[in-house]
Amino acid sequence: MTFIACQRDAYRRKGSAKVVASDPAKDGYWIHVEDSLLYPEGGGQPADHGWIGEVPVLDVQKSSERGIVCCFTKQDVALGEVELTVDWPRRFDHMQQHSAQHLLTATAIKLFGWKTVGFHLGEAYTAIELDAPALPEAQLQTLLDEVNASIRAAIPIRHRVIRPEDMEAEGVRSRRLPEGHEGDVRLIEIEGLDLNTCGGTHVSSTSELQMISFIGTEKIRGRWRLLFLAGGRVQKQMQSQWQRERSLTKAMSCSPDEIVPNVEKAQDELRTLRRQQRLLSSELAGFQGRALQADGDVYASYYQHADIGILSTIADACLEVHPDAQLFLCGGGEESPAGEGVFFLLGDAGWVKQAGGLAASVMGGRGGGKPGRFQGKATDLSKYEEALAQIKAVSE
Ligand SMILES: [Zn+2]
Repeated sequence: MTFIACQRDAYRRKGSAKVVASDPAKDGYWIHVEDSLLYPEGGGQPADHGWIGEVPVLDVQKSSERGIVCCFTKQDVALGEVELTVDWPRRFDHMQQHSAQHLLTATAIKLFGWKTVGFHLGEAYTAIELDAPALPEAQLQTLLDEVNASIRAAIPIRHRVIRPEDMEAEGVRSRRLPEGHEGDVRLIEIEGLDLNTCGGTHVSSTSELQMISFIGTEKIRGRWRLLFLAGGRVQKQMQSQWQRERSLTKAMSCSPDEIVPNVEKAQDELRTLRRQQRLLSSELAGFQGRALQADGDVYASYYQHADIGILSTIADACLEVHPDAQLFLCGGGEESPAGEGVFFLLGDAGWVKQAGGLAASVMGGRGGGKPGRFQGKATDLSKYEEALAQIKAVSE
């Protein structure tokens, strides 16, 4: 097994390497680089980004050839010596998340015997999948306190290489090796805490993790996932939470402690108001329906902010007073008919069918219903008068 430049020194951000081949690919090129400073995706850690000379590298993957990685670029690169530059903020973030995972995994086993069976380093958060029957709040708090105590203790993190046959004697935690692995094994050691096989790039002390914060747990396929942030991600998250809190306290004119009780109170009030509003609109619709006057043979009107439910209540109320009425009602958001809205027709089945089709075609809408009732949506309520005139002509 050949260990490449980024595995020998995770902190080197710039250095020379050799381009040994270039393969055209869909939308770009795979540039084969010997002894790369750019880390290829693997072991749960995403690929580095960076540059070959001035050419941006958008992905890095392992190659079947030892000591070679393939860098994806949009431009071709000449063979020979080149300078590689690591996208350091991205890489250091991955180092923090990956080392935090090793620390969490080791501490979860030590404290509660929870084994890590999966690791996902995503853009928004990192997750470990734990073989645990449950993740009780109190134990999670103990775990969090313990890992953050290890961070404050600035424990050295080192990498070293041993022969596979020495792993057992060394007490390596996970002795699983990638398929087809040959030769020496790379270990990551958190001094006195953990020794594990890993090809990833890591920080050199737990102090560089700054802080770990748990952001949630979820149960997927019968296993528990613990979602966390480490290092710069905690700081970033805190900044965005402060900003959000400032906007909320400003919008609600209250202190941060008052946000939750005030939101609960506002939701209660809103529920009550909605209930009252429903009762009042139904009562008002009853009055409007009973007061509706015929325009020729058609009882027609436009109602501001009326939905199909309200139009239907108005229509039913009108029928109480005028059992044989033919109705054409519209509702929309504006005071005068304009824009999008709804319409409703009620009356003799033959008339409703014909008048409903007319209303839909004149007001740019569509609809349907059962015999004697037609409801639809219109895109252009400014044509309401025109539709009414045509509908009245049908009735005559
Ligand atoms: Zn690892």
